[in-house]
Amino acid sequence: MVSKVNEYENGLHHFENACRQNGLSITPQRIAIFKELASSSEHPSAAVIFRKIREYYDNISLDTVNRTLLTFHEIGLAKVVESSGDPKRFDPNLALHHHFRCVKCGKIVDFENAAYDALEIPRAIQKKFVIREKRVHLEGFCDTCRSPDG
Ligand SMILES: [Zn+2]
Ligand SMILES: [Zn+2]
Repeated sequence: MVSKVNEYENGLHHFENACRQNGLSITPQRIAIFKELASSSEHPSAAVIFRKIREYYDNISLDTVNRTLLTFHEIGLAKVVESSGDPKRFDPNLALHHHFRCVKCGKIVDFENAAYDALEIPRAIQKKFVIREKRVHLEGFCDTCRSPDG
């Protein structure tokens, strides 16, 4: 296991490399957005990241945060969690994992499962499409929302 500090430094190193390779300058704003995303396990939306950054960075706009997160997605620094209709949610965890999403409060939780990782793509799908990624997406009520008075 790597320590959190090492993981974080690797992340920052990865961030700087990805920016350089894609001709993006490493601005304090981009670093701040990356740090907030990388330190969150909640699959935050742009609005959530924006509210956190605005606490210490008042000349940043939601639009900048949103565009920056989409850029991170394009250059492989983040993933967009697929969901229908809702604002996009971003995921700093690039490792293969799966999601549980609460349909009531919108919480998205990562989980790992070797059996899911090993699921086979149906042949008909393999013939028809090029599969780049395989994730299992579970939906239901989280431990808070499942209680009768939650
Ligand atoms: Zn919930
Ligand atoms: Zn995730």
